Amino acid sequence: MRIEKHPILAFERGKPITFYFNGIEMQGYEGETIAAALLANGVKVFTHSTKYNRPRGFFCGIGKCSSCLMRVNGVPNVRTCITPLQEGMIVESDKHELPEGMPYKKPKRESIEADIAIVGGGPAGMAAAIEAGEDANVVIIDEQPCLGGQLIKQTHKFFGSSMEGAGKRGIEIAKEMEEETRKKARVLLKTSVIGYYNRGYHFLAAVNKIDAILYEIKAKKIIFATGAQENMLVFENNDLPGVYGAGGVQTMMNVYGVKPGDAGIIVGAGNVGLILAYQLLQAGVKVKAIVEAMPKIGGYLVHAAKVRRNGVEIYTRHSIKEAYGKESVEGAIIAKLDEKWNFIEGTEKNIPCDFIAIAVGLTPSTKLVQQTGAKIKFIPAAGGWVALHNEYMQTTIDDIYVAGDSANIEEASTAVIEGKIAGLHALNSLKSVDGYEEKMNGYLKRLEELRAGEFGKRPKAAKKKIYEGYYEEVGRGRNS
Ligand SMILES: Cc1cc2nc3c(=O)[nH]c(=O)nc-3n(C[C@H](O)[C@H](O)[C@H](O)COP(=O)(O)OP(=O)(O)OC[C@H]3O[C@@H](n4cnc5c(N)ncnc54)[C@H](O)[C@@H]3O)c2cc1C
Repeated sequence: MRIEKHPILAFERGKPITFYFNGIEMQGYEGETIAAALLANGVKVFTHSTKYNRPRGFFCGIGKCSSCLMRVNGVPNVRTCITPLQEGMIVESDKHELPEGMPYKKPKRESIEADIAIVGGGPAGMAAAIEAGEDANVVIIDEQPCLGGQLIKQTHKFFGSSMEGAGKRGIEIAKEMEEETRKKARVLLKTSVIGYYNRGYHFLAAVNKIDAILYEIKAKKIIFATGAQENMLVFENNDLPGVYGAGGVQTMMNVYGVKPGDAGIIVGAGNVGLILAYQLLQAGVKVKAIVEAMPKIGGYLVHAAKVRRNGVEIYTRHSIKEAYGKESVEGAIIAKLDEKWNFIEGTEKNIPCDFIAIAVGLTPSTKLVQQTGAKIKFIPAAGGWVALHNEYMQTTIDDIYVAGDSANIEEASTAVIEGKIAGLHALNSLKSVDGYEEKMNGYLKRLEELRAGEFGKRPKAAKKKIYEGYYEEVGRGRNS
């Protein structure tokens, strides 16, 4: 299952590691996650559901769902898709309790005082840190083993504007931004922010489970740049191992060099689905079909043309009806949809495959910002529940900001500018920044430019609703 040759990526695997899965000795490499190592060893079934004992594999690959939870070295419910592999690790399925007699390991505690705490080290969070870090004490926290968010798996050259890195590959942009971020801010990785508390000051609890450290972070301002999570689709057997989120497939393939399978189908012909198809082909994986419910392709036609040239059929007005397989995916049944989105009897096609990648959009991750008490609203055009905010990314609680996909599903380019706006505004409210007005106006104008055109219509409409909701909520006018 490991990718040995790739046209763009060179996988420099770390030192070999021995670990145990349900008592069976397996080999992996330093630097990869438990889930990646298991998949590389051909393991698709990680665990079983508690009530009906149905098999479960990984799904999101970024620590957002519960599909890959297992007991690791005696600790139950470890998110194995974001936990790095270590020598001698004992990984167990279907064990939900602490082993008897296991001593309680007291975590180290560390208190941190920061001017600005940033949750999430994707493009939005890193841009905020770079913007504010020169003149303020900034800490940035991410639960992944590295900074970069979604960018670390984007091997394609980015669309958008050259000012925000278009023309470069996502992985290159991530590297450049990481270097800058490290110069400007304290970086905490493999660390999940698990709670916000108002103690008369803003307080975050963050946990690094690998090194057993509990961080207690007191901050004057907080920027939540927590990104998004993948949407699921309802169809029969959608919980079978081998049904993966598109981002999860990208993580396995482009970050860890592990194939999701030999041949698959993709559901969704937006940019994510189309780009994923091309990336799978580059990794030597067959793409049997792309299935799209809408009457036309949602992503850029240049991406669609590229996959079609490589022989991939795109079925518009089709969806997935059923996945089948005993322990993991062995195939999919797709069928045509009528005007009312019902399957048309007799149009079913059976496509044998060993994985199904779901690329049907993202939902903003707002669980943490909700804990602050900032006003949240369901705005379908933004992708779901989002924190109402103004043009400066400030929520209905003045010291709390949002930026990037967690504030409206968009693109890395807009995430970067929103991060800069949040960082600059937060900094200026702590200490006056030279040339603030000019800089801020430049960023606001840039955002407007990025949202011009056909693809900017949806995010623009979403933002309008978000700003209106914000001003309604705080009860003051735009210019006050
Ligand atoms: C296939 C694909 C292709 C794309 N192509 C393009 C393109 O060509 N051009 C473009 O502009 N955009 C593109 N995008 C979109 C772009 O990648 C995203 O819009 C962008 O990454 C969003 O940035 P972000 O910082 O808001 O979120 P993310 O990049 O998702 O980063 C969020 C970070 O927050 C961290 N986090 C979340 N919760 C916690 C917590 N509780 N504790 C600690 N850390 C936490 C996560 O680990 C993650 O690292 C593409 C996306 C995909 C999936």
